[in-house]
Amino acid sequence: MKMHNFNSGPSILPAEVLEQSAAAIHNFNNLGLSILEIGHRTPWFEEVLHEAQNSVKELMGLSDDYEVLFLHGGATTQFMQVPMNLLDETKTAAYCDNGIWGNKAIKEAKLFGNVNIVSSSKDKNHSYINKNFPIPEDSAYLHYTTNNTVEGTQWHSIPHTDVPLVADMSSDIFCRPMEFNKFSLIYAGAQKNMGAAGVNLVVVKRDILGKINRPIPSIMDYRNHIEAGSLLNTPPVFAIYIAMLTLRWIKKEGGLSEMERRAHERADLFYKTLDNLSYIFTPIVAAEDRSLMNATFSIKNEELEKEFLGECKANGMVGVKGHRSVGGLRVSMYNALPLSSVKAMCELMENFAKKKA
Ligand SMILES: *Cc1c(COP(=O)(O)O)cnc(C)c1O
Repeated sequence: MKMHNFNSGPSILPAEVLEQSAAAIHNFNNLGLSILEIGHRTPWFEEVLHEAQNSVKELMGLSDDYEVLFLHGGATTQFMQVPMNLLDETKTAAYCDNGIWGNKAIKEAKLFGNVNIVSSSKDKNHSYINKNFPIPEDSAYLHYTTNNTVEGTQWHSIPHTDVPLVADMSSDIFCRPMEFNKFSLIYAGAQKNMGAAGVNLVVVKRDILGKINRPIPSIMDYRNHIEAGSLLNTPPVFAIYIAMLTLRWIKKEGGLSEMERRAHERADLFYKTLDNLSYIFTPIVAAEDRSLMNATFSIKNEELEKEFLGECKANGMVGVKGHRSVGGLRVSMYNALPLSSVKAMCELMENFAKKKA
């Protein structure tokens, strides 16, 4: 039986991406070789890499000022690599503190320069996004997390500022059109909305680089990756291949506006159901900041939570338990999740509520 996959990451991928990548492990492009067996500097892989890079540029509508890189290390490495390249002791970077992942980014940035926390939602357990705050004009950049995967909040607009914008888009990349050209640097681990674990997408505007005075280890310096065409060392070949297929799927399905339409369809249904059942389930996040990707909620007591999770399991629904740091429940609804899975979840919640009312 195919599960209803509400995992927060790694998470659901389109069925055809899984089929194509499985086939490529056995025989890639009818070469009589596996995708795992070919060199990263062969024309075969270069074609994969270039298609992935071009799809990113096309989907985001990026101007020629940007470079698209596929790097190792997960989004967590970007928490360090961003300030290593953009911040030094003479500069101050502005950071938003809207959740666990943003906090980890703040911790790393402090190793490289001054950090000014310009916005925080800590006072209410990160259950909302503090969107109105001044940003000093001389900040090296403003860093924020577009979607707080653990807490279930999402920015539905881009902060207004002339300061260079840096965003961690790991859990909502490619879920909607955005003015991507407003950003100086965007990064995202692939394993939530654009592929498998093992690769990071980094989109960087060239003019933000080379402004600090610090020796940067070669492998950490974005400029070296740009110069090498994202082939500075052996890249995660298979993970990039899966990302390329996922991007191809997004384009074929209708691009980012179609992804956004589907995201709203799923999220509207889910939150409507949740609000209707508020006598047993409790939404956690302020309505205007609710995430299209990760819906967090809780249930009256621990006993009921256990029972509910048991019913989810019995009905083939996985990934519903909240992040270990915050508890509660979470339903993740990434691009590849069919509406039918959300419908099944809503039915289960309605039946559960009826039984327990
Ligand atoms: C999952 C996640 C990360 C961490 O990604 P890794 O690839 O595990 O390093 C960082 N930021 C956000 C917003 C995430 O959702």
